[in-house]
This record gives sequence, C-alpha cells and structure tokens, in this order.
Amino acid sequence: MKLIFERSAEGYYNEMISPCDVPTIALPDEMKRKKTLHLPSLPQPEISRHYTELANATFGINDGFYPLGSCTMKYNPKINDEMATYPAFASIHPLQPEHTVQGSLEVFTMAESLLKEITGMNAITFQPAAGAHGEFTSLLMIKAYHERNGQPQRNKIIVPDSAHGTNPASVAMTGMTTVNIPSDKYGCVDIEALKEAVGEDTAGLMLTNPNTAGIFDKNILEITKIVHDAGGLNYYDGANLNAIMGVARPGDMGFDIIHLNLHKTFSTPHGGGGPGSGAVGCKAILKPFLPNYYPVKNGDKITFTEPEHSIGMVKGFYGQFSVFLRALTYILFLGSEGISSASKGAVLNANYMLHELKDIFEVPYGETCMHEFVISLDKLKKETGITALDMAKGILDYKMYPPTMYFPLTVPEALMIEPPETESKERMDDAIKVYRKLYEAAHKNPEAFHEYPLHAQIHRVDEVRAARHPIVRYDFKTE
Ligand SMILES: *Cc1c(COP(=O)(O)O)cnc(C)c1O
Repeated sequence: MKLIFERSAEGYYNEMISPCDVPTIALPDEMKRKKTLHLPSLPQPEISRHYTELANATFGINDGFYPLGSCTMKYNPKINDEMATYPAFASIHPLQPEHTVQGSLEVFTMAESLLKEITGMNAITFQPAAGAHGEFTSLLMIKAYHERNGQPQRNKIIVPDSAHGTNPASVAMTGMTTVNIPSDKYGCVDIEALKEAVGEDTAGLMLTNPNTAGIFDKNILEITKIVHDAGGLNYYDGANLNAIMGVARPGDMGFDIIHLNLHKTFSTPHGGGGPGSGAVGCKAILKPFLPNYYPVKNGDKITFTEPEHSIGMVKGFYGQFSVFLRALTYILFLGSEGISSASKGAVLNANYMLHELKDIFEVPYGETCMHEFVISLDKLKKETGITALDMAKGILDYKMYPPTMYFPLTVPEALMIEPPETESKERMDDAIKVYRKLYEAAHKNPEAFHEYPLHAQIHRVDEVRAARHPIVRYDFKTE
C-alpha cells in the first residue's frame, strides 16, 4: 500500500484548522523554517480512503479471535470510548483552575476508591503512563522508603526467572540490582532459592501472580512473609489481574505495592503504542512516597496535593486521563458481580482451550491454569522442524491473531494463549480446530509451513532483515 506522501498530487488543499482565537506572535527570523515542509496534498476523500486502508490492514479484537498471552486483549465496550470523548471531559485543559474541573477530579477519587477495594491497597496514583512505568514508579517508592528508614543498602530486587522482561529492566532503571531466582517444576517460586536470596540488602520482591505461565502460586503467603521477615517489601506485577479481580486481592496476599495495567485488565484498546495507564496502588506505609499530584477530597472540594516524601512527578500533569476514565466506566458498568464474573470467564475460557489442546501439545506446567496457559512446541519441532514461529504464521491465514511466542523464556518453543473472557465457545472451538489442523499439517507437509501466511496482508517477512535494517524514514525525492 502507498504512503500518504506517495498518494499526494499537486494542488489540493484542505483547510481543517479552526481560526485562531488568541493573538498570534511572529517568530524571530532565525527560528523560521528555511525549506518548505513536505506536506501531502490530497482531496478529502483520498485522505479518508488512506486511513480506511490503514485500518483494514490492522487486526484488532473487533476483527477476530485475539488470544495474545500476557497482553489481555479485551473486548472494549464502546460506552468507554463514548465517555472518553464526552466533550466535558475531552475539552478540559490540565492548567485549568481546580475549581472549574471538580467533576473530572472526581474521576480520580472514584476510580481510586474502587481500585483500592479491588486490590486491597490504601492509595492509588494514576500518574504512570504504562505498566513498565508503574513498575519503575513502584520501585522508586520502595527505594525511597528504605532510604527514609536509614537502610539505603537495601538495593537488591528479587525477580523470578518467569517474570515479564520489563521487571528486571525497571530495576536497572532505578539503579538497583536484580537478583534472579529460578522457578520450581510447577513454574512457581522456588521457596528454598528465595530463602537463600533474601538478606540485609533485599529491597523487595517483584512477583507476578498468577505468573506468566498462568499458574497461581499456592505458596504466596509464605513467599511474602519470607520477604517481609527479611525487611523487604513485596511488589505485585498486576498486569495479570484479569485472572483474579473480584475474587482475590494482592493486598490480602501480603503485597505492599502493585501496578495495574488499566489498558489490559480494565479495558482500553492497546497495542500499537496507544495510551496506557500503569496505575500504582500501595499500602499506607508507602503512601507518603506517592508521586506528586495526588488528589485528595477535603469536604466537597478535591485538590491535588504533594505527599510528604513524594518521589516527585513521573509524568507531566496528571497521567492519561482518558484511560482511567475508561477504566472507571468499565468498572461502574460491570459492578462488583460483573468484575468477578469477568475474571471467572477468563479462567474458564483458558481452561477450556487448555483441556481441548493438551492431548496433542506439550503442557509444561500442569493440567489447569488461571487466565492463560503455555504450550511448548519443542517436541513438534524435533519431530517435524516446525517451530512456534511457523505455527504462529500459519494461524494468521485463518484470520486469527496468533498467541504470544517464545515467552515465558523458561519454556522452549513456547506459545502462550490467553482467550478473552468475552469469547464464545464457538469461536474458541474454531481456534482449537485450527491449532489441531496445523499440528496435523506440520506432520504431513512441513515444507509448506515456511511459506505461511499465504492469505494475510503481508506474507512471510525476512525477520532478520526486518530487525537489522528497519527502514523507518521516507526519503523524499526533492528537498
Ligand atoms: C504487559 C505487561 C507488563 C508491561 O506493561 P506495559 O504497559 O506494556 O508497559 C508488565 N508485566 C506483565 C506481566 C505484563 O503482562
């Protein structure tokens, strides 16, 4: 398909900017552009066609089955978007005086109180813009807490080897060090390894529960106690809250701080780098360290305050307002029963698919799972040469999104499947048939696999060239 610059022709002009309603100021000459700007010139219907063509080239939850493990590709009810574009919310400015935006500030306090209840925490900040950003914020708070308590030597964070890659990356960004511990044969924390890892230098533990293999760690209370007894804090990677919300609370499992991926569990379209929200919830002991701009209700009035030992701001202004507005809409719409039935539906769907696939695919971690499960194609690869990547490319031909590949790193040739909780049995049956059919095809005609996908927008790409020589800049013929 053509880029918008390649569709451009001479002489078309669309004035879409509304007249300026503030005084204009001329720029000094040295700041003025020396060359003319490359702006595409197209009639309006061509612009519309361009974006429609782009939209048709993408794949989203509205197009088909999207079981992308760890990413929680939810169906996002349209009412959320309607709320987010509601003019009274959409046209406010972050520098507006507080008394003129009290209704919007109530979105913070309402969302905070509901998420406190769901997570079992005492305070929530909405500043972080994504999950990894929430991890970073939480770790800065843990670090500040230990420093404040006269224990700056506590700078090691224990991370199990099944963790999401962002966990150790966030640790590194805060200047602390990761201590990796292995998983046991069930994919859970190896208790003995944890006991050996904790000590005077332990700042905390980062744990995903259920973990990235979709297994709920049954020793969770013992795990958090070991870390607390050693003087560390427990951090919960809550990106997977979709498995437990409304049923169990990290705050009751001994966790002190948590990040939530509002754009996963609480339904905001994501993928492709759209806005996210990595809200962070914490227990009272960490509340004084929360980022700046913490909204507090005083009588009838809500104002932003600076917590006593705040780590400062982690983002401009107040965070991604439209994302937690969507999350609030989602929670209010579902209600407490709906919230717990969403997570029960996610667990049920994942177990159904696991049950229907486990006779042919290797299942490294047990016969039941939470909201997602991992299969290994290691045996299939040895028998037929077909890899997890080949399988994923084959699935594309059936107008379905493939599962997450090669994650968690602890499983060779991993495919990680997370069916949305809103998926019908019929749709999952379609997917199960496709997976089984491809499994058979791998044995019968493995050569054909290397050409897949045959019917997708883009056929098999040269992965190495795409990674090593990405072309991300359009070269204009004329300057
Ligand atoms: C998605 C995810 C993250 C990171 O969230 P981003 O919003 O992509 O930064 C962290 N941990 C787990 C377990 C995740 O699934």
